[in-house]
Amino acid sequence: MEKHKKQAIAILGSTGSIGVQCLDVIELHSELFEVTTLTSNNRWELLAQQAIKFNADSVVIANEQHYDKLSESLKDYPIKVYAGKEALEQVVCGENIDCVVSALVGYAGLAPTIAAIKCGKKIALANKETLVVAGELVMRLAKEHNAPIIPVDSEHSAIFQSLVGEYTPVEKLILTASGGPFFGYSKQQLESVTLAQALNHPNWSMGNKITIDSATMMNKGFEVIEARWLFDVPVSDIDVYVHRNSIVHSMIQFRDGAVKAQLGLPDMRQPIQYALSFPIRLPLGNKRLDFAGMNLTFDKVDTDTFYSLRLACEAIDKGGNLPCVLNAANEVAVGAFLSEQISFLDIPRLTQQAMKDISFVGSPSLEDYHLTDLETRKYVNKLITKI
Ligand code: NAD
Ligand code: MG
Repeated sequence: MEKHKKQAIAILGSTGSIGVQCLDVIELHSELFEVTTLTSNNRWELLAQQAIKFNADSVVIANEQHYDKLSESLKDYPIKVYAGKEALEQVVCGENIDCVVSALVGYAGLAPTIAAIKCGKKIALANKETLVVAGELVMRLAKEHNAPIIPVDSEHSAIFQSLVGEYTPVEKLILTASGGPFFGYSKQQLESVTLAQALNHPNWSMGNKITIDSATMMNKGFEVIEARWLFDVPVSDIDVYVHRNSIVHSMIQFRDGAVKAQLGLPDMRQPIQYALSFPIRLPLGNKRLDFAGMNLTFDKVDTDTFYSLRLACEAIDKGGNLPCVLNAANEVAVGAFLSEQISFLDIPRLTQQAMKDISFVGSPSLEDYHLTDLETRKYVNKLITKI
């Protein structure tokens, strides 16, 4: 009997939190999955190790400064080495690639994800910023090019998993949020929180940027926008509850009042693996839930204190380039907070300011998004120098 071809996978951002866990899944099922391409921004040493271990055909280091070192470290292997942002957009179209895992962080994910969509690749999407910035355009292209987009984000994977076998439109999507490290804090308490506190997420270990986004609740705002585009549901039909347990990963309510949810202990390998293996499920040596004595809690979000969530809803409501402004301003502000240039509450303040001041574009093209991103970054960086 002919052997089944393995699913060939390219991971954009293989050295990050999602990327590394994706490689764990691939290693666990090496009879089903293989690696074609791996990429990183700066971590060339880890990238080289991964490429050797997984027999990659090619690697890309986005920051060209590390090209020589990476190239040198791989000179004895038949692995092609590329550098630069444009190379990311080229490698994703490699003929031998079946699935592109978009696991880079921030706006940088948009162009290579669009490139992969235009080549009709299956996309396992972790990079939510792609949909925040340009959801309408990205979903339109995915349809045009027959490129399935399978969510990796745990909430969206939960909804995706719960939608299997359903034919009728949903009444509501219910996203759960851990609430982050500062759940229950007042605005006054948030004034003085430190970087170390903000990085100390109660339930998930993730990259720095999303960890800060979780602390401000901007992450949940991004996820509302992400859900709006992935599942074509208006924002008015998307509810958010704080669920401190992080066990119910999200829910769907139907018109007969039935609610479906997907539960599990917090472990990103489950949604990552499902995105690769869908429509089948594979074993994953992860822990099982113990229901006895389990107390699941659900609370309203305090959107006066954590108003980033409101800013995101406002951005998607007004549409145009406003979600792109939201994303760029937040990305710059989070970067500045991570390098301890600004305080925690400066993050939503700067984002709100940019949303007020950057000129509105109603129906942006990809080029408009690019210009909005640049203009917003410049503007927020200028505001930061005055703090
Ligand atoms: P991370 O910071 O751990 O890793 C990011 C990866 O992207 C790294 O490999 C890095 O080298 C690469 N990268 C960063 N900037 C780049 C640039 N400018 N150009 C090219 N490559 C670049 O981030 P993460 O936590 O793995 O998150 C990745 C994405 O997945 C984010 O969009 C995040 O919101 C989303 N996500 C993450 C988790 C999680 O548990 N970590 C959960 C849900 C969604
Ligand atoms: Mg999530």
